[in-house]
Amino acid sequence: MTEAPPRVDLIGLEPEELDEALAAHFARRGQPPYRAGQVRRWIFEREAFSFDAMTDLPAAEREALTGAFDLVSPQAAKISRSTDGTSKHLWRLEDGELIESVLIPTHTRLTLCISSQAGCAMACSFCATGWAGYRRQLSAGEIVAQFRGARRWARDNGMGEITNIVFMGMGEPLMNPRAVFPTLHILNRGYGVGARRITVSTVGVVPAIQRMADMPEQFRLAVSLHAPNHELRQSIVPIEKKYPLPTLLEALRRFDEAGGKRITFEYVMIDGVTDAPELADELAGVVGEFRAFVNLIPFNPIPGSDWRPSTRARLDWFVARLEDRGVSAFVRESRGRDIAAACGQLRAEATEGRKPVQMGSI
Ligand code: SF4
Repeated sequence: MTEAPPRVDLIGLEPEELDEALAAHFARRGQPPYRAGQVRRWIFEREAFSFDAMTDLPAAEREALTGAFDLVSPQAAKISRSTDGTSKHLWRLEDGELIESVLIPTHTRLTLCISSQAGCAMACSFCATGWAGYRRQLSAGEIVAQFRGARRWARDNGMGEITNIVFMGMGEPLMNPRAVFPTLHILNRGYGVGARRITVSTVGVVPAIQRMADMPEQFRLAVSLHAPNHELRQSIVPIEKKYPLPTLLEALRRFDEAGGKRITFEYVMIDGVTDAPELADELAGVVGEFRAFVNLIPFNPIPGSDWRPSTRARLDWFVARLEDRGVSAFVRESRGRDIAAACGQLRAEATEGRKPVQMGSI
């Protein structure tokens, strides 16, 4: 017996693919071509979460769409709202996996932080998600669905429109390029989020950075550097062993030279580990050639680790030292501490005791 082809999730299609799939579907059914445009509008503009909600389509067409396609929309397993306005969704996927997204309001922006994998295989030593291990890749539809769900919730709860999207939730986005790259195009061309308002955060997956450099859109890149030399970095970010700093910097040069593509460097501030005075000078030396910002992130303590965040005085000193060396630097204040909004923490709480699965080597 031949297996039925997998059902196509319309949420995970790039706009052109969506048009093609819908045009073929309605042509097969002898329907006028404008039906495709109706469905497209319901998906990108009118927030339909089921085919039944597409009320300007005849009932028979809604039923036929339900029979032919999926519209992935994960269920919110838990929603937490911090006293500082940060709001976190824990999403349950169809197979029971849990992922999270966080809405972060500031004066002028509403930033959505989304996940690209269930868990993460990168094993960064300071990260709750890394400790919890890898579960599986997310599909493009599952990533876009976080945006759709969070957007509706933000609108319903008076938070306004999402202005910026960062791939800084669970997972290493550039280890899932098959889903993340189409997602960038869906968010940009389908939902109209400007490329410069979408930031992909990576620990340094060099081949995928090179692919991003070749994209015509000006998607932003945030590089989790966390140490300015090979020795220290490999003890914090294991991918350093596969793509050592010189190789990473070479890829970043190519990204930078592609023009208009800004790079942000993330640097975790761990007391006595990454915050020695000489490391500030070394860091300035490494990032100085790029038109870059450095975000200093106070380490967020995780269970099972003795590490502590750097002191306020050391954070301020680091910023001043980098600025003296001509590098723009900020301390990224932790948001939503009272709802465990640091990467992976809510899921880590929800899945305590469950074993991670192993992913192939990177
Ligand atoms: S910091 Fe990012 S890449 Fe590293 S383990 Fe955590 S989620 Fe993965």
